[in-house]
Amino acid sequence: MKQNRRNFLKTTGAIAGTAMLAGSATNTFANTFGRKSMSEKLKLSFKPYTLELKHVFTVATNSRTTTPVVLTEIEYDGVVGYGEASMPPYLGESHETVLKFLSKVNLSRYDDIYDLDEILADVDAIEPGNTAAKASVDIAMHDLIGKLLGQPWYNIWGFDKNKTPYTSFTIGIDTADVVRQKTKEASEFKVLKVKLGRENDKEMIETIRSVTDTPLTVDVNQGWKDKNQALEMIQWLKEKNTLFVEQPMPKTMIDEMAWLTEHSPLPTIGDESIQRLDDVKKAHGVFSGINIKLMKCTGMREAHKMITLAKALDMKVMIGCMTETSCAISAASHLSPKVDWADLDGALLISNDVYDGTKVIDGKVTLIDRPGIGVMKIG
Ligand SMILES: [Mg+2]
Repeated sequence: MKQNRRNFLKTTGAIAGTAMLAGSATNTFANTFGRKSMSEKLKLSFKPYTLELKHVFTVATNSRTTTPVVLTEIEYDGVVGYGEASMPPYLGESHETVLKFLSKVNLSRYDDIYDLDEILADVDAIEPGNTAAKASVDIAMHDLIGKLLGQPWYNIWGFDKNKTPYTSFTIGIDTADVVRQKTKEASEFKVLKVKLGRENDKEMIETIRSVTDTPLTVDVNQGWKDKNQALEMIQWLKEKNTLFVEQPMPKTMIDEMAWLTEHSPLPTIGDESIQRLDDVKKAHGVFSGINIKLMKCTGMREAHKMITLAKALDMKVMIGCMTETSCAISAASHLSPKVDWADLDGALLISNDVYDGTKVIDGKVTLIDRPGIGVMKIG
């Protein structure tokens, strides 16, 4: 029965692909039904790479100037899908762990390459954790399948490419002079994100407000430990034209966080508290919304499910990122027409991007009309 269903879906997918491809009908028919693909196998390759940050990046817990990533490619019948794992050190993955995980992934055993559910569930089952490594396979598979179907993912999912949000741009923690300078340089952006959770939180906000009235979002990265002080701070932030507060309290303080959300005049968004699909239900009643990141949730497929569930629970959804190339940023951007807020500035913070893809134009996430996740290699 399962096999029948799968064959049906495969056929449906193939017909959809036929309708979508722009080439001649004859060629398309030969590609789709010529069974050449039966002898083809998915081929995964990957290599470590180090992103150079344009500026030292400081948050409540650390500072850094580089981020390790692993770039993946999955090839099938001469078509290549691109993927990426980004591993900021505080999340526990590294070049070493990702390369080790990817060496255990065997994609050559699948005859039905369109069965993303089965393939990605198998990858997920190899070992717990390793979410960035898993995302690098998920993204490359989505890019590949989109290219084989001749369609961008926002179309496959039925999203309106014009409904993308503005992305916030992060102003890192720094001296008042540097913060003023960076704020001025960020005038293109319609939303600014500020990292709080230190002694000088109000000073940071006042410094930015001395330059611009652009709406702010704040990310406390678990930095506030007292719920009453947190509430006072949120009330103050509301007067400063703040849209929402991300992860105000430690992820272990669940009851305090639920109390804060109940009393808060601004939406609260869970980030460190929410990783995967199972966490969405747990966050209901604790936060007003969730911050989805591909590197936390194993990729586009699970992110899509998280958005669907969060919306069904009437929760807000934000899509965020790590420091990433335009590959992972583009992958996330295809989901962005469905979210309330985006924080997809990761590729803007690096000086050695290797892909051209989704752009930020006048502060807005701007999808490109290319199949898959819409990226091209430039480096
Ligand atoms: Mg965050």
